[in-house]
Amino acid sequence: MKIMPIRTDRLYAAHDAEYTQKALEVLRSGQYINGKELASFEQAWASYIGAERCVGVANGLDALRITFRVLGLGAGDEVIVQANTYIAGIMGISDCGATPVLAEPDEYFGLTPAAVEACITPRTKAVLVTHLYGMMTPMDEIVSLCERRGLLLVEDCAQAHGAAWRGKKAGSFGVAGCFSFFPAKNLGAFGDGGAIVTSDDALAEKLRVFRNYGSNKRYYNSCIGVNSRLDELQAGLLHVRLRYLDGMNAERNRIAARYTNEIRNPLLRLPETRPGAYNVWHQYVVRCDRRDALQQYLNDNDIHALIHYPIPPHLSEAYAYLGYGRGSLPRTEALGDTVLSVPLYNEMTEEELSYVIDVLNRFE
Ligand SMILES: *Cc1c(COP(=O)(O)O)cnc(C)c1O
Repeated sequence: MKIMPIRTDRLYAAHDAEYTQKALEVLRSGQYINGKELASFEQAWASYIGAERCVGVANGLDALRITFRVLGLGAGDEVIVQANTYIAGIMGISDCGATPVLAEPDEYFGLTPAAVEACITPRTKAVLVTHLYGMMTPMDEIVSLCERRGLLLVEDCAQAHGAAWRGKKAGSFGVAGCFSFFPAKNLGAFGDGGAIVTSDDALAEKLRVFRNYGSNKRYYNSCIGVNSRLDELQAGLLHVRLRYLDGMNAERNRIAARYTNEIRNPLLRLPETRPGAYNVWHQYVVRCDRRDALQQYLNDNDIHALIHYPIPPHLSEAYAYLGYGRGSLPRTEALGDTVLSVPLYNEMTEEELSYVIDVLNRFE
């Protein structure tokens, strides 16, 4: 049995007729950019998250970097972010010239108020929370800390579509929530896509202008913007898939529960759910001291598991200039050496799941 990290082919096949019908409808309409599909998906996504507004953009990195630019951050400003995040989060911050300040994550792979507090300086302007692996960060205390210290709170929800903290969805806590609809995400498009949600009308308007060359009225440009679009085809197809998102997240939870209940191998440390969190298991990340041997062993059994992420951003060449060396963020570095994402995807069969569990339990 061959197990891949994700099966986007099956995800398509599950609702083949509906996607095909929507795609043909858009193709035949002749309207491919900035039409009714985008407007209606933006409304649906804002309302799903529990925010007032949504601005579609070209991808998740754009959602992040456009947000920080429009918020007015730049050189000399600092943004606190967890050090073990996907590097796009760090790029979203540094794009406007601001400095990413890296905080160590906790046992749930996320930010804690104490970790944020320890990184605050007079130059701190914002905090970027990432609900990594679809595991929800406890938001109450982070929200109140940001309010108390006058910091902007932005959420990177690229792995957390539908995740919630005490019933409130990821993306609705800060000034803006940034999403990616890359095909492998919990809500994936058929190509690239992204969105920013916010309940601040003025910010939404600025984001809308900025993504369109800084123009509100044709050939009138109020600022130097970018071209970052969520096209009609992607918006229409995402809207179809949105109907199934809660069901897909429930399925991910059922798979995660089987892993948690049935993996019994003392060499593996399983992820834990924080009380109050509804996680959506973008990844099911185990830790193992002999991680590379585990990955090789799985590979030998035709189970293809990925590492999210083997090189923490501060040790990548791109961010050498920040001046963190090896040893400066020991918890993050230890995660980079020990984490492994066990295959978990929608449309995974019970047989596949049983096979992965059985193979994992026989690792020694
Ligand atoms: C995928 C991802 C992004 C970037 O999204 P793209 O659409 O690939 O640009 C940003 N942050 C996190 C945490 C991600 O997982």
